Amino acid sequence: MTEEITQWSIIETRRRLAKKEINAIELVETYLKRINSLNPSLNAFITVCEELALKEARYYVDHPDKLVEKPLGGVPIAIKDCLCTEGIRTTCGSKILESFVPPYNATVVEKLLQAGAIIIGKTNMDEFAMGSSTEHSYFGPARNPWDTSRVPGGSSGGSAVAVAACLCPGAIGTDTGGSIRQPAAFCGIVGMKPTYGRVSRYGLIAFASSLDQAGPMARNVQDTALLLQVISGYDPKDTTSILKEVPPYCEEMKKPVRNLRLGIPKEYFAKGIDSSIEEAIRQALRVYENLGARIVDISLPHTEYGVAAYYIIAPAEASSNLARYDGVKYGFRAEIPSPDLIHMYLETRSRGFGSEVKRRIMLGTYALSSGYYDAYYHKASQVRNLIRKDFEEAFLTCDAIIAPVTPVAPFLIGEKLDDPLSMYLSDVYTLPASLAGIPGVSVPCGFSPEGLPIGMQILGNYFQEDLLLRLAYIFEQETGLSPKYPSI
Ligand code: GLN
Repeated sequence: MTEEITQWSIIETRRRLAKKEINAIELVETYLKRINSLNPSLNAFITVCEELALKEARYYVDHPDKLVEKPLGGVPIAIKDCLCTEGIRTTCGSKILESFVPPYNATVVEKLLQAGAIIIGKTNMDEFAMGSSTEHSYFGPARNPWDTSRVPGGSSGGSAVAVAACLCPGAIGTDTGGSIRQPAAFCGIVGMKPTYGRVSRYGLIAFASSLDQAGPMARNVQDTALLLQVISGYDPKDTTSILKEVPPYCEEMKKPVRNLRLGIPKEYFAKGIDSSIEEAIRQALRVYENLGARIVDISLPHTEYGVAAYYIIAPAEASSNLARYDGVKYGFRAEIPSPDLIHMYLETRSRGFGSEVKRRIMLGTYALSSGYYDAYYHKASQVRNLIRKDFEEAFLTCDAIIAPVTPVAPFLIGEKLDDPLSMYLSDVYTLPASLAGIPGVSVPCGFSPEGLPIGMQILGNYFQEDLLLRLAYIFEQETGLSPKYPSI
């Protein structure tokens, strides 16, 4: 029974709570029990909010009317540890914020609480969201529940593991260059990166401000749509959030998908792609063709420059964003023998940041330094524009783009750790959409011969989240490929 409860989708959980087949305290206790038994090996959570979650659950047991009123009333949700949670430690996967307790909630968190969600815990992540494997977490790597010797992807690896291993029915991740889509693909769940500006960044600890975007992760498309609906919308506290009505995604998702033109970018099937991934995507195309979609060959000619442009722009923004961690205002401060401010700054940053974060700060500082700015940052921004134009042109001939999420299957823990370039290159298919700011969803589309999940990426034009959800939903209905549960 315990296992069955934790396999319920968000919508199913809501329905059972409303029908009083289970109460919120029993539900939270069931999840806490599963987390206590599995988290030591999976390392999905940095912090488990045992007391607070039970307190919230008690509130919904005492106020059943409130539970019914709210779209997520009584449902446990996990939050990536880079989103500020009032009174709950928020580490960003870093030693430098190991003991940081924010005095306020991120807007995304506030919206989830307003919608009745119960925060069950804060999930593991690469330090400051820099990484593709969750191995750069100060709190140790999270493990892929389909094969615990492999990475779950990153940087939202903890959120993906928590959802895939049924430690919660849904979670929030963040995506700067693929960090929702790639771990969703590696763990066999659904994950969406919304259009830049769709979801408020207020209270999201900044990595690269022009790219960062929070989004939903769940085991099916309907749950993903519901979470997206809750967290989306304009926020006066974030000047880059966009004043645009939020469509009722859960209803939009069920509309038919007739006469659609699906673009297949030839650059996304270049050499280096794993043959089982290519085959899974080609099979998926047949599913759409059978539904009456027209497949059109397209070209996104600047794809190959995405990695180079991103790894200038993101570190440049990070080097500036991370300047605030100096031991004075937040978290960790190095104790030094003599009271010398500069020495304290240096020691704090040298001991507080991990090696990947330091590498990015150095890269970014170098790229922005006078004399190099034009050659690097300015050039990378021009390339970013070309990538944006690639998509603009592609969307003249197709309605959405179908592509792989990654060229490779989940790799072994440690396999790429000493080779940052090879880790960066694995982001090749997720970075362009981030640079352009368009939305993308990752949906399970099969398994490799070793039994590892494969994800398909559906990309759309700005604010076409509803279309992406429709395409993902119909695929899920046709193939029955999600949800699937790893045996742990
Ligand atoms: N893997 C990419 C990086 O390391 C993207 C990370 C992200 O989206 N947060 O920067």
